[in-house]
Amino acid sequence: MKDDERHERGKSRGKTDDKPNPYRRRRRRLFILVLAIAVVIVLAVVIFAHGPGKGTASLNSVKAASGKPTVDVDALLKKGIRPNELGMVMIMEYHRIADSEGSFTRSINNFKNDLETLYAKGYRLARYSDFLSGHINTPAGTTPIIFTFDDSTVSQFRYIEAGGKKVIDPNCAVGIMEAFYHKHPDFGCTAVFSYLPSLFEQEGTGKEKVQYLATHGFEFADHTVDHAPLGKLSDQDVQKEIVGSISNMKSVDPKVDVDTLCLPDGVMPKNQALMYHGSYDGSTYNLKWVLLVGSNPMYPQYNYKNPGAELPRIQVMDYDQKTGKGADGSGYWLAYFDKHPELRFVSDGDPLTICAPGYMEPRLLPSKLPKGVQFVGYEQP
Ligand SMILES: [Zn+2]
Repeated sequence: MKDDERHERGKSRGKTDDKPNPYRRRRRRLFILVLAIAVVIVLAVVIFAHGPGKGTASLNSVKAASGKPTVDVDALLKKGIRPNELGMVMIMEYHRIADSEGSFTRSINNFKNDLETLYAKGYRLARYSDFLSGHINTPAGTTPIIFTFDDSTVSQFRYIEAGGKKVIDPNCAVGIMEAFYHKHPDFGCTAVFSYLPSLFEQEGTGKEKVQYLATHGFEFADHTVDHAPLGKLSDQDVQKEIVGSISNMKSVDPKVDVDTLCLPDGVMPKNQALMYHGSYDGSTYNLKWVLLVGSNPMYPQYNYKNPGAELPRIQVMDYDQKTGKGADGSGYWLAYFDKHPELRFVSDGDPLTICAPGYMEPRLLPSKLPKGVQFVGYEQP
């Protein structure tokens, strides 16, 4: 319909001086409408008479558009797995890993316990970039979880000498994660390091560490050059801080892609657009995501309740119910999901489908699904 025609129709509505031509068109449209309704009724009768019976079978054996069978939901339900890939996930926020627990420090023992606890509760590490793009490949029945480490301290990645060889300290974050991964390969071994120019604080090893991490499934986020709260800086200095960090990484390893800004102290710049795009001294940056500090889980991007590009995180700390200390930290949220498993993301094990109870389908934003991935709804038994 042409614009001016639509305009004319709008104008003629409610008028009595319709010309004969539009009137005939209206009758023709009425006839087509009646015909369409008749076709739908006939099709519905045929499907009802010959299709599979009611219940889960018809809904749960959906085939992908390509004809390739998708996830077998009935088999999962029989095993007691109720996929909910529209549910919530947590991005964990770690800082220092050291001997004793403290502010912005997780003790080595507590970090080891975190891995055991998360594993036992059915959490599995997801690669940050995969999760954000909707490629979820954690095993069926498990919940993806994302790890982030801020400030690139040596406590996160330390080389030590052992038997005349340079090895990764088994008590730094990377060493602990790798040891756990060898014991439980299905837990995964991936995280985002929000880096500062010191790059893990061991003279002359920054490049080697970055290359090691980049080739072992880890990722990086821009944490600026000076770690200054961006809200206190001029627009020019905000851009200088952000682009300076990206230039540092490019000079260390040009293959590393950085698409995320991790806000120092969680403070946004006055001009928030500068978190994503800007330039300084001839260098330009274009980022997609911002990591916040605290303090809640999030829905995936393809759920209409998604957090947008500003991603909340959860500080890793114990929760003391009596004093309220650690509220909104990981201890609190782990207990919360134990009580509310129905809100938790549960994977169907198939990266090509987003599977959830059928009634949740209206929450889906299909435009945010990667190509080839489709929704599969099921009826809860
Ligand atoms: Zn920091």
